[in-house]
Amino acid sequence: MAQTNRRLFLLGGAAAAGATVLPSWALASSAVAAPAIPYPFQLGVASGDPRPDTVVLWTRLAPGPLNPDGNGGMPDATFNVDWEVATDENFATVTASGTVATSRAIGYSVHVEPALQAGREYFYRFKTGGHISPVGRTRTAPAVGSTPAQVRFCMTSCQHFEKAWYHAYGGIVTDIPDLVLFLGDYMYEKSSAAGAVRRYTITDEVTTLADYRQRYAQHRTDPNLQAAHAAAPWLVVFDDHEVDNNYNRTTPGATRKAAAYQAYYENMPLRAAAKPSGSSIPLYRQFLWGSLARFHMLDTRQYRDAQAAVGDCTTMRSTSRTMVGSAQEQWLLSAFDAHPATWDFIGQQVMFSQRDGDGLRGSGSTGCSDNIRDAWDGYTASRDRIANGWVDRSLPNPVVLSGDVHRHWAADLRVDYYDHSAPIIGSELTTTSVSSGGNTTNDPPSSTWWSYNPHVKYYMNKRGYVRVTATPQSTTADFRVVSNPTIYDPEQVTISTSASYVLMAGTRGLQRV
Ligand code: FE
Ligand code: CA
Repeated sequence: MAQTNRRLFLLGGAAAAGATVLPSWALASSAVAAPAIPYPFQLGVASGDPRPDTVVLWTRLAPGPLNPDGNGGMPDATFNVDWEVATDENFATVTASGTVATSRAIGYSVHVEPALQAGREYFYRFKTGGHISPVGRTRTAPAVGSTPAQVRFCMTSCQHFEKAWYHAYGGIVTDIPDLVLFLGDYMYEKSSAAGAVRRYTITDEVTTLADYRQRYAQHRTDPNLQAAHAAAPWLVVFDDHEVDNNYNRTTPGATRKAAAYQAYYENMPLRAAAKPSGSSIPLYRQFLWGSLARFHMLDTRQYRDAQAAVGDCTTMRSTSRTMVGSAQEQWLLSAFDAHPATWDFIGQQVMFSQRDGDGLRGSGSTGCSDNIRDAWDGYTASRDRIANGWVDRSLPNPVVLSGDVHRHWAADLRVDYYDHSAPIIGSELTTTSVSSGGNTTNDPPSSTWWSYNPHVKYYMNKRGYVRVTATPQSTTADFRVVSNPTIYDPEQVTISTSASYVLMAGTRGLQRV
């Protein structure tokens, strides 16, 4: 099944590229005075941000994806790109079509927001200069007020290109999810030879627009990643490595941020509303899946205060610090006032629940020496305002979704983690990485550590993704693991479920299945 689907999406495009007889719609497009180019759809296609009335369709022209100038081998001219949406993969019934222009100023990217119907599956493709793209499958969100029986999404993060092969995406394509959530570290700014199965073509740290554009293009040459983008709409947010390691609102400088955000927008299936303006990008946003689920996609990088120093518990607990900035915090808390859906999935980058290494509550400058400074443990007041915010507003079923740490974790959430009998107020599912970390042997924490953190239910240090199935009654999370992601041949790699947990609607706390 997996192989069949992967062939369907990938060979569909390859066959179209090599076809000598083009469909009539391709030949009928308006004449464009643009230079002839070799096959430009080498980065595949993607879709994202599904709403009831539209979904973003994406491609980027790049006949030479690895060119170090970041221009993808494109001549400096304006190119018209035709797009077409159909209800069948053979495009017998085309429901929307049009033409958009692209140029060097937007990295030869194409973002289309067609007018579509709610709750439908669609197929889409692009054409320029007689070349036809691979076919992508996507879907729109269900109508507002409708009652879907189920939503299935796969979530993952952290795909350092050099560290392992992207077998996790083979599993995601097989699952045929409604959505894919990518929770950050789509690319890494630094290259390293250690344990590499392949290398970045630019081995210096990337800092310029040309660099970032080239790096995204290199990622998108991966066939497994292309297949996953072609299989379902994605909801994407970035973490730090799309810009700079452990960055925050004060560093790095505006020039580098502007370059990184511009390249991010160009390469992701984001709406025009998410276009960056200089060194800021409006990324946080919400999605409604009928009365079943709501997705709050947060930005925990752009507005955060700088990390505290090691062991500086006073700073970590300062009430003046923020992870998300005051505007985003107010936006999120306001959303919690309404309860349009059974499940609230809060998709964001870094682990929300406490991880306590010494069992000491401490005070002042003590008791947080082992907590993770870059995650919410380093911004406890910000975490408390959000968690108390959903408790005060009686949010029915909050589930935080996280990435970043290259491990699977499952945890229940408390307002006070040191009080092991405090009420559970929600749960957290943390996905491991696609490739970052490479091939690892599981290394669970000690029994002493677990005794300090009884709210934490599961840990697994393997590559993979989390598959989530939500219904009006329950949310089930399958923690999916790749046997050895440094082996290239998919026939020698297995993808399996290492553990499953379920949440019952209206009842707090993860239960092992
Ligand atoms: Fe990472
Ligand atoms: Ca502690």
